[in-house]
Amino acid sequence: ASAPTAAQETDVLIIGGGPGGATAAALLAERGLRVVLAEKSRHPRFHIGESLLPANLPLFDKLGVADEVRAIGMEKWGAEFVSPWHAQKSQSFVFADAWDKSMPMAYQVRRSDFDHILIRNAARKGAQVVEGCEVRDVRFLPDAQGAVISAAQDDGSLAVWRARYVIDASGRDTFLSSRFKAKHRDPKHNSAALYAHFTGAQRHAGKEQGNITIFWFDHGWFWFIPLADGATSVGAVVWPYFLKTRGSRSLEQFFADTIAMSPALSARLEGAARVTEVEATGNFSYRSDRTHGPNYLLIGDAYAFIDPVFSSGVMLAMQGAFVAAETVDVCLRHPARAAQALARFDHQIRFGPREFSWFIYRVNHPTMRDMFMGPSNLWRVKEALLSVLAGDIFGTTPIWNSLRLL
Ligand code: FAD
Repeated sequence: ASAPTAAQETDVLIIGGGPGGATAAALLAERGLRVVLAEKSRHPRFHIGESLLPANLPLFDKLGVADEVRAIGMEKWGAEFVSPWHAQKSQSFVFADAWDKSMPMAYQVRRSDFDHILIRNAARKGAQVVEGCEVRDVRFLPDAQGAVISAAQDDGSLAVWRARYVIDASGRDTFLSSRFKAKHRDPKHNSAALYAHFTGAQRHAGKEQGNITIFWFDHGWFWFIPLADGATSVGAVVWPYFLKTRGSRSLEQFFADTIAMSPALSARLEGAARVTEVEATGNFSYRSDRTHGPNYLLIGDAYAFIDPVFSSGVMLAMQGAFVAAETVDVCLRHPARAAQALARFDHQIRFGPREFSWFIYRVNHPTMRDMFMGPSNLWRVKEALLSVLAGDIFGTTPIWNSLRLL
């Protein structure tokens, strides 16, 4: 590596150019701050997390990327749950039946394309996007004077910035929370996932063709996510003991054998061909014991990740980025109001994972599955359930009260 260059000055340095980081970068640049967005890979790059929620759409509008996302997205109007344990084999929902009827659809996206749209948008809005640039060290200066950040670039050089504020949006790498030893695994959702893309999978017809299907089986559940280009993302989320049954089987064989345990999913994949390698992610649930500290904030997966069953990760990362942009702006321009802004940020960032976690933990309970398979709307419970599926958790509808009645 060549000798380090002198530190460049910036207002905000963001670690990671996924949906959280790219959204925060665009919004802060729009507010006139100097922003550096350091991303270790180069877009477009593969990422899991392809099913988005209706609650994402207002965020796309505010960011100015709605048309670009529509162009790559598969329309998703609802979700289907398939159970091997109920006489009624499947139950379909449409988002239009949620408490708030104004958010009837969402998109499913190839994340390589989607994340590329968001990072290009950040550059267009004036953020300095540096790809192939892995942040390796962040040294916070005394007396809240900001931080010195060093990063290794993929041409072998070292980049150094001095920033007034740092946003950690490094996703599952959890850059700051790992370094602070602030990351805690969540024993309630200690699962793992195996996934790949297929062509030729059997989709439903008409408006339901893009809907996500969740298939329960004895050792967890599967997702079936149709994408706009004809590919279908299929993944298995399995309980930890099940992984230990893999033995000496290759990941490909283990995935195929696991799919064979769900006759309903196998029927949808009859004649389909797997077109990507099988990938695995283990122990994916964790959260940090803090959302912020002197001169830094954590957003998206860099703060917490619970469980993918409700496709909430991208929405929470982007929602967190909106609050982060406002918070950093206040901290830098109106320090007298910083404490209040940080308290609001803390509440918002903790709220999403906490409420989803509360609910998801119960979804895997047999009584809750019964509710999914034949929901009643007594106390508006069905509408509340659909509001969670739509990601409408930050609004004013009292959905959690309805769900807690259960
Ligand atoms: P990321 O999207 O992970 O982005 C972080 C970025 O930071 C990456 O580009 C990475 O390269 C970069 N980075 C990391 N470290 C550094 C560093 N040191 N320096 C520079 N750059 C760095 N969510 C959904 O909404 N829908 C789904 O259907 C869904 N399914 C999922 C299935 C599984 C199995 C899993 C594990 C997750 C799923 N998720 C889903 C969650 C979703 O993937 C994440 O919540 C979402 O990507 C979080 O966005 P983010 O911006 O916080 O992090």
